[in-house]
Amino acid sequence: MTSGKNPAPLWLHIPADIHRRLHCCLDQVVTELSHGDGSIVFFRADDVAVPGRKLARLVDVFGKHQVPLTLAVVPAWLTATRWQWILEHCSRDRSLWCWMQHGWRHFNHEPQGMKLEFGPSRSFSRKRKDLQTGFQRLNRLMGDSFTPAFTPPWNRCDSETLSVLPELGYQALSRNLGAQPPAPAAVAEYPVSVDLHTRKEKDGESGWQNFFKELRESLGNGFCGIMLHHQRMNNAAFDFLELLLSELKQRNLARLVHLGTLLREGYLQEKAEW
Ligand SMILES: [Zn+2]
Repeated sequence: MTSGKNPAPLWLHIPADIHRRLHCCLDQVVTELSHGDGSIVFFRADDVAVPGRKLARLVDVFGKHQVPLTLAVVPAWLTATRWQWILEHCSRDRSLWCWMQHGWRHFNHEPQGMKLEFGPSRSFSRKRKDLQTGFQRLNRLMGDSFTPAFTPPWNRCDSETLSVLPELGYQALSRNLGAQPPAPAAVAEYPVSVDLHTRKEKDGESGWQNFFKELRESLGNGFCGIMLHHQRMNNAAFDFLELLLSELKQRNLARLVHLGTLLREGYLQEKAEW
């Protein structure tokens, strides 16, 4: 969840040559790619649980392009009815979707400074309880569809929270690339390094420049996690997402997977060289 649901400035001013700029970016990756095998790309959609037109449109786009999607679900927002609605709107090919946990109720408990649901303002036992309650709720509602992986709201949490993840059953963690504090060795990390919809730049052009820089560097490094927020998307954002998916599929520079596949294959962060 973000502070507002308005589209970020870059989605209000789409450059006329956006196709050309995406082509240039991907052409550059092809020539610079340090990994002969191509890059790993995964898309993580956050703040999922509440039915709506934009969520339906998001899963429709991924279904149409046959690109796997990791969905980070806020446990307290999910009900059996909502889960049923989501499943009905996802394409029948179940292998496309990976469902993971996003916080407990996506609430900021810090009185000042950076927003955190799992931060220093709360006791270890409360944080542990919230994690466990969320895990159990998703397990109960989703059954086998739930992948025991955690992404903290705002991509950050404290070391107490990280330390308890393995014993509660989490096998993977997804935060921003380079996030601190370090995660326990028993938890595989699959970071995101590209932000499409919650960019902070005040002017659109800076947003586009930084976005393309993130995309080029992440693809070039061999591991590219792309974060999505459907609530902040407008028509232009959906159009660009379709363009990005079709370009990535057409070019042979990336393997498109979801987090569940990486976890099952035992893909380790060392391979990503970051
Ligand atoms: Zn969130």
